[in-house]
Amino acid sequence: MSTTTNKPPVAKNMDVIIDIIGIGHSGEGVGRIDGYTLFIKGALPGEKVKAKVIKVKKTYGYGKLLEIVEKSEGRTEPECDIYNQCGGCQLQHMDYNAQLEWKRQRVTDNMERIGKLEGVTVLPTLGMDDPWNYRNKAQVPIGEHEGGLVGGFYAQGSHRIIDMDTCNIQHDLNNDLIREVKHIAQQLGISAYNETTHKGLLRHVVVKIAIHTNEIMVVLVTNGEQLPKQKHFVSQIRDKFNQVVSICQNVNTKKTNVIFGDQTKTLWGKDVIYDYIGEVKFAISARSFYQVNPVQTKVLYEKALEYAGLTGEETVIDAYCGIGTISLFLAQKAKKVYGVEIVKEAIEDARVNAQLNEMDNVEFAVGKAEEVIPKWKEQGVEADVIVVDPPRKGCDETLLQTIIAMKPKRVVYVSCDSATLARDLRILEDGGFRTERVQPVDMFPHTVHVECVTSLIY
Ligand code: SAH
Repeated sequence: MSTTTNKPPVAKNMDVIIDIIGIGHSGEGVGRIDGYTLFIKGALPGEKVKAKVIKVKKTYGYGKLLEIVEKSEGRTEPECDIYNQCGGCQLQHMDYNAQLEWKRQRVTDNMERIGKLEGVTVLPTLGMDDPWNYRNKAQVPIGEHEGGLVGGFYAQGSHRIIDMDTCNIQHDLNNDLIREVKHIAQQLGISAYNETTHKGLLRHVVVKIAIHTNEIMVVLVTNGEQLPKQKHFVSQIRDKFNQVVSICQNVNTKKTNVIFGDQTKTLWGKDVIYDYIGEVKFAISARSFYQVNPVQTKVLYEKALEYAGLTGEETVIDAYCGIGTISLFLAQKAKKVYGVEIVKEAIEDARVNAQLNEMDNVEFAVGKAEEVIPKWKEQGVEADVIVVDPPRKGCDETLLQTIIAMKPKRVVYVSCDSATLARDLRILEDGGFRTERVQPVDMFPHTVHVECVTSLIY
């Protein structure tokens, strides 16, 4: 008796010529040889490439791009010199319009394959007019290399820090500040933290800019409480950048990859910076979460507001509300908004922000959305609109069943992963909702990520 095994049609170190037919989750080109999938970093759909097979697994393998035999029209020269080492962006070799089109296609594919939603309208991705320098927050690890202080990013697959002069998706002022703070630290003889020995002081430099007020906060994350030459450090930063209104130190003495420790002190200036999304004002502290692309955040929230269809009479629930950004945005047009979020500190920020905007029609609760919302239902809360903005893994099934039982007129689903979105839409559709449209919004140009706002009606 003979058994047949499906042997891969390629072997390690073999050179292959292959047509690229798609893009994988990390931005790699995807091609097939006799049904066997090869992932090739740097190759684009529509291209024919020559690659060397570098890893062979049972059902898929990896190839190294050697030569582009036929080039895609969507190919462009990456802006960053360090693009191949960094890994922060995955699509810089793809023209921006092609990126937007690919993101829309990926959402459509997930709707059909995972959600089994035939014919649902996926609108063209809303992109940026200028898709560069969009990030309002920079956080770079600091290390030492050949006696000098370096700061930038970890080399892919390792914890070796590569020095970075400029990141093209960062706000210009953030780049300038990071560069200057490294320079000042070096001049003052401040030591850099070493992960292996757990010695040295400066671990991370974090810079946040509020783009609507131009206020900047600098946070020095240190392995210990004492910051030598603190006064010089502060005055040199202030001398060079008059937009800096807050300089903080965060102490993190733990052996961990988590950036921040528990203790933050203000070395100079204010404890928070203020920013606006539309008309709503937000206080941002050293550790509070805030969306990193403020231009597109406004686009995203305006879509959510439009899809909520508010007239001023509605009761709205905002599940997974974070620091209450969407809740407050909706509260401008709703009778009452209830927000729920699992992180206690985020809810504390949300309450501060509600007060800051003198909004008294919002109420926040700490807890799991899937536990708190059924309780609200029992207490007689009737929602006209439910907004959800879950993390990548999507909504808890109990929450979806509660939404189905509550029968709000509208559901607005904000999602950062269209695969789990499609899975959850199927459940909501089976429960009587209809998906009206899906609007992809490009919150993170040059990366594989895509955010979607979806409107559903009952
Ligand atoms: N809507 C916010 C944040 C969305 S991110 C904004 O636009 O800024 C998703 C949030 O869900 C995170 O803040 C996370 O802490 C929270 N979260 C995760 N699991 C949760 C759960 N089971 N119940 C409630 N919140 C949860």
